[in-house]
Amino acid sequence: MADLANRFPENVSGRYYVDDQCIDCDLCRQTAPNNFKRDEQSGHSFVFQQPQTPDEETECEEAMQSCPVEAIGNGGDLAAAFVARQACPTVGLRVAVPLSASDCPSVPVLTGQQMS
Ligand code: SF4
Repeated sequence: MADLANRFPENVSGRYYVDDQCIDCDLCRQTAPNNFKRDEQSGHSFVFQQPQTPDEETECEEAMQSCPVEAIGNGGDLAAAFVARQACPTVGLRVAVPLSASDCPSVPVLTGQQMS
């Protein structure tokens, strides 16, 4: 089961994400090419765009169900809340809107334990 605390920072903000269990098998990128992409440097998948259409939603769900190591998660609102709690040097934990790693790349993502 994917762990929100171990999501790759490359994932775009939102419900779907890939965590560090990914073995780079390519299945999700073939199943949902509009949403999953390969990080060529690190050799793993990440979500570069959340589903925008019902078809993409279906493809992302299928990718999550088919991932051989359960590295894909659908954290729902929790995922958005998680990225919103990234420590930002400008606004700290008072962040009210979701941030992605690309919004604030110099700041590490808090672990699930730190969030509580
Ligand atoms: S299907 Fe799972 S293991 Fe395969 S590339 Fe996608 S996230 Fe990684």
